Amino acid sequence: MNFALTPEEDEFRAEVRKFLGGQMTRDPGPLPQNAYYSIARRIREGLGRRGWLTLAWPCEHGGEDSPIKDAILREEMAYFGVPRANDYGTNLAGPLTIRYGTGSQKARHLGPLANGKEWWCIGFTEPMAGSDLAAIRTRAVDMGDHYLLTGQKDYVEWARESDWCCLLARTDPDSSGSAGLTLFLLDMKSPGIFLNPVAYMTGRSFAEIFLDQVRVPKEGVLGGVGRGWEVAKEVLEEGRSGIEFVGWARRILDLMIEQAASEGGGSAGPVARHKVAEAAMDIEVARLLSYRSVRNRSRGRASTSEVSKSKLFGSEMCQRVAGTAMEVRGLAGQMARDNRWGDLGWIVHDHFMESIAGTIYLGSSEIQRNLIAHRQLGLPH
Ligand SMILES: Cc1cc2nc3c(=O)[nH]c(=O)nc-3n(C[C@H](O)[C@H](O)[C@H](O)COP(=O)(O)OP(=O)(O)OC[C@H]3O[C@@H](n4cnc5c(N)ncnc54)[C@H](O)[C@@H]3O)c2cc1C
Repeated sequence: MNFALTPEEDEFRAEVRKFLGGQMTRDPGPLPQNAYYSIARRIREGLGRRGWLTLAWPCEHGGEDSPIKDAILREEMAYFGVPRANDYGTNLAGPLTIRYGTGSQKARHLGPLANGKEWWCIGFTEPMAGSDLAAIRTRAVDMGDHYLLTGQKDYVEWARESDWCCLLARTDPDSSGSAGLTLFLLDMKSPGIFLNPVAYMTGRSFAEIFLDQVRVPKEGVLGGVGRGWEVAKEVLEEGRSGIEFVGWARRILDLMIEQAASEGGGSAGPVARHKVAEAAMDIEVARLLSYRSVRNRSRGRASTSEVSKSKLFGSEMCQRVAGTAMEVRGLAGQMARDNRWGDLGWIVHDHFMESIAGTIYLGSSEIQRNLIAHRQLGLPH
């Protein structure tokens, strides 16, 4: 099997790097929350103007049908430290609306998704439904021409900044488990939505969402009543390529190499050299797994266990590489974003924290291991 990128894909990577390099200082450093989001918004709208937010979308919907170019873009955005805000919009809500949306849902949502103007969040997790997502208790009561949603969602990233939410709720009150669930496109300005901001270790925006009889018109159902589980599984798999871990880890590797070149000493000694070489190898494996799963998924050939492998390996690889950098960089590698020494060690610290989170969101490492054991290896539950 040939894993090499085509010359056109390599050229695209160079173009992306040039664009991102001109848009922002690599690693923007400590920023107040509003500056962080204005950078994210400016860059995403810039990407939208170039048609790069929709590279993986089918041509008939304005895309290029090129998931590989999309993966290249995402890898480079991670490398340059572009704030991850609204990834769920273009990468998850868009493809799902294309696949499952009605004509009017496509007409309403695809344009603002493609130009990066409307932001989306994902409302799946609940206090008693994380790994066991099928235990969802948020109710959606059928009122004839609309539904009334009542319940709570946890750990919703970018809930406060988002215009819309893909929200999973139980439409059949007598159902349990994965049956009787429905996915809704929820307007975040609807009356009855209350947000409680939650602090997050790397300063990302998080909130709990409380829903008190929130009205959603019937045309807000995505993919059909009772088909929520099927659509939600697609959301989770779509997000599991793990390519951003490759970008973050490459950035950390470059820092280690730059440090060894400028300081010499321990950071260029034999122990450090071997660790850096291992990190480079680890990154290469993660990258191959990631691009293979993206390529196979685009051909309808990637299995659940294949995407699980690339997400699991990528997130844990990033943690290993950041851990190595912390050792090699010494105390500076543990500095937080707002350290007053102006040391780039905070990037290592930040990516280490992010990679811990990466072993939890979109399904924890244990859940990915379960999926590989059951789905690929046929081990019993
Ligand atoms: C940074 C971050 C961003 C997130 N963003 C979102 C978001 O935008 N929207 C959203 O809906 N959710 C989001 N989540 C929530 C995330 O999907 C859940 O945290 C995750 O699914 C785990 O659920 P939980 O926290 O309830 O832990 P639990 O499910 O309670 O798990 C606790 C521990 O038990 C282990 N465990 C559970 N079940 C099993 C099992 N069957 N076998 C072996 N081990 C098991 C888990 O691996 C974990 O270590 C985010 C989480 C994080 C950390």
